[in-house]
Amino acid sequence: MYQTILYPTDGSEGAEAVVDHVRELAAAFDATVHVLHVVDARSASYGLSGAFLTKEGSGVRADPAPGDGSGMVGEGTDAEATRSALVEHGEEIVEATAASLRDGEASPETVTAVETGTPHSAILEYASANDVDLVVMGTHGRTGVERYLLGSVAEKVVRLSDVPVTTVRADA
Ligand code: ATP
Ligand code: MN
Repeated sequence: MYQTILYPTDGSEGAEAVVDHVRELAAAFDATVHVLHVVDARSASYGLSGAFLTKEGSGVRADPAPGDGSGMVGEGTDAEATRSALVEHGEEIVEATAASLRDGEASPETVTAVETGTPHSAILEYASANDVDLVVMGTHGRTGVERYLLGSVAEKVVRLSDVPVTTVRADA
């Protein structure tokens, strides 16, 4: 029934809470798990300074330091440098997530992908392009504003997806 499961992740704690659920679902259905990170094209093209990314730890700082020379829209090389740093960071996220999915008794087949675009659209497009049967994602992500039932990416995917979407709360 669920041969291909899509697990979109922004690398946040909210998304990590999903790992155990994805692993068990994949084991139950002998499914392949696609781990997808979307680099938000808006953050990339705003040319957020390279200083926004750090080499150590999880990579992206919550807030860029003031006056660190964030580029403006259209500053070609800055935007391109930022985009490739964000893609590289995304690759680290999906690789680490795939590794933790395989790290257990039930070890599913994994595929990793990093796309650039608007997160919810890129998730939906990836799902149709790859014959995804089920999407499993966090109710919240990096921003994690708890007063909302769902984060905006989760909300749009739930509303627009052609396939079932399972959402998992971080403290579930
Ligand atoms: P908001 O982004 O609306 O301020 P939020 O960050 O708390 O709030 P969402 O972004 O909707 O909430 O995150 C919910 C889930 O959506 C995450 O746990 C993750 O599974 C998925 N998600 C969010 N952003 C991305 C992304 N850039 N790439 C892949 N998956 C994502
Ligand atoms: Mn978010």
